[in-house]
Amino acid sequence: MSNLAKHDMNVDYSKIRLSRSKAIRLKCLDCTCNQTSEITNCDIKYCPLWRYRTGKEEQDELNPYCAF
Ligand code: SF4
Repeated sequence: MSNLAKHDMNVDYSKIRLSRSKAIRLKCLDCTCNQTSEITNCDIKYCPLWRYRTGKEEQDELNPYCAF
């Protein structure tokens, strides 16, 4: 079993059943070379994952209401 707290480029993630939020987290870890603070501070708002990078949906002027 791989350690899902870090993105490992040697792991074939298509062979592991992941939740949607874990898949997003792993992609962000991949993007930031496993620097979790860079995910929190990510300012690439045009990235399709940006709103979901922290594990809950980011609220802003475009999306002011929380759906959960
Ligand atoms: S939200 Fe930020 S850290 Fe996550 S994949 Fe997009 S650019 Fe990378």
